[in-house]
Amino acid sequence: MPSADDLRHTLSRIDGRGYKAYQEIRGSFEFPRFHLHVDHVQGDPFATPSKLRVRMPMREAGLPPQLFEGAVRRTACEDFLARCARTGSQRGGRQRRGSGKSGVIEIDAGGQEVLERTAAVVTPDWVEVRLQLGLPADGRRVLGREAEALLCHELPRIAEAGLCWSQLPQDEARRFVECVENQEHIRARLSELELVAFVGDGAILPRESGASDRPLSGPQAVPFRSPDPLRVTLHLPNPIEGPDGPRDSITGMGIRRGVTLIVGGGYHGKSTLLHALERGVYPHVPGDGREWVVSAPALVKIRAEDGRRVERVDISAFISDLPQGRSTTAFSSNDASGSTSQAANIVESIEAGATGLLLDEDTSATNFMVRDARMQALVHKEFEPITPFLERVRELYDTLGVSTVLVMGGCGDYFDAADCVISMREYRPCEVTGEAKRIAAEHGTGRQTEARAPLDRIAPRIPLAESFDPSRGRRGVAIDARDLDRILFGSETIDLRCVEQLVDRSQTRAVGNAIHLAARRFMDGHATLREVIEGVEACFDERGLDGLDPFHRPEQHPGNLARPRRFEIAAAINRLRSVRMRQPGPASPGRT
Ligand code: ADP
Ligand code: MG
Repeated sequence: MPSADDLRHTLSRIDGRGYKAYQEIRGSFEFPRFHLHVDHVQGDPFATPSKLRVRMPMREAGLPPQLFEGAVRRTACEDFLARCARTGSQRGGRQRRGSGKSGVIEIDAGGQEVLERTAAVVTPDWVEVRLQLGLPADGRRVLGREAEALLCHELPRIAEAGLCWSQLPQDEARRFVECVENQEHIRARLSELELVAFVGDGAILPRESGASDRPLSGPQAVPFRSPDPLRVTLHLPNPIEGPDGPRDSITGMGIRRGVTLIVGGGYHGKSTLLHALERGVYPHVPGDGREWVVSAPALVKIRAEDGRRVERVDISAFISDLPQGRSTTAFSSNDASGSTSQAANIVESIEAGATGLLLDEDTSATNFMVRDARMQALVHKEFEPITPFLERVRELYDTLGVSTVLVMGGCGDYFDAADCVISMREYRPCEVTGEAKRIAAEHGTGRQTEARAPLDRIAPRIPLAESFDPSRGRRGVAIDARDLDRILFGSETIDLRCVEQLVDRSQTRAVGNAIHLAARRFMDGHATLREVIEGVEACFDERGLDGLDPFHRPEQHPGNLARPRRFEIAAAINRLRSVRMRQPGPASPGRT
């Protein structure tokens, strides 16, 4: 294998030549403490940066094995190393010189959530960090000396800052891994405790601003405090710092399975609590304030999303008898309304395996949520296609086992359906179930029940591979995440603005590639959408995200993917405007 000196010589030899000369440095180089793999060299200074990996043998890196023992700790450790390498790449006051992306170094570390990601890899034998790097140019000429400084001096420094135990902040690393492990331990126990979520005492739920994901700081941030009747105590595998020294348990509010209502006056913190639960499906970094907000992994946020595409969804439990005799057992629309989109979002989430739904009145269609006695009197049921959520929320749990946590400050008709009512008052929750039930008994709603048929199953759908075309122009596969909430898939753009539990653009990128994988590998004309996404998940479990890059070669890695949940993959498939599905009918039975 050529050495660092060979790389240096090559760079000085090609100094001043056309940018294409950089192709000569593709390959692997042996540095004193690591190997540098230059996997991809960009075609010009303005193109997507080059892809590199620094792999260091564990005997050099010296990470303590407990730090990455088991899947949870390994993911946390990798996430932490990527953060350290990114910080290292931002230090040093390096002057960026040259055209285009010259001198840019990107390491795809995460935000407030800790996700399985490809930016760093830890194995018992080696550790690796993956970078995107803009090879320096003056116009379109190679800047050899700058490249040498970057690759032969800067890079070793970043690698050591991110990979060598002797240089890492060791206490912080341990605390980070232990904190994530504690969160995942709680998540794993939720089901046996019959909880859908846990919110720890002392958690800081509000954010700095509507545009920031960082915690609100200072005295105005009111720490969470569980109502006494809902308080549970959970044991933790790693002790945490309490007010009177280390403790190995934590207390907080347990939200039980069933139907939970969050009520309270406007601006008293209802939506903030729900947002924390939405994000609680992922672990958070220590200090986020929501590291003790832990939700069941299959909770899905539901909202109205008018304008979205819907393909053959059975929304008949919520909507029937549409004008012009339109089908609601296989409802399709290029421009769904608020209520039909919200109904489709619910049915699709359950189809994908959701065990709980999170709804907020702020983002729901009013007519989907309620229809009171007076409106029933004025607009006869015959002319109202909607069976409001109010009439299905109980059934969703009793028949299908799907829980709901609903923020509803505006309508007391829900009191009858709730198992638990939590009232937010000045950012403090109180348990008011008894009071709500007493009020419900005293003041009847005067409503008539409108549901026509029981809600007993969610009809599966079979996605058709031929409706997925990732090609654009001469490119066989053109898939990219333009933003957190937009995927370019071939010549289509998938709009994910209303898919609120997607938290990282690298997840979005992975979703784009996962759809392609799903269509190629799992859509055989028989597999249901549920089976298809389970296939993708099994792939992730077995091989990590490495198999996702459509340009994948064994030793090449994009280094900027993060793992999405199955619900967000399904959400993207469901929003692809070209997607076609069929429902397995009696004439063409699905696989059993
Ligand atoms: P609601 O949904 O009840 O109308 P929100 O959850 O939107 O209220 O909260 C209103 C405002 O209060 C937001 O600016 C939010 O950041 C802030 N807030 C929420 N919870 C807290 C808290 N625990 N401490 C301080 N401010 C909070
Ligand atoms: Mg609100």
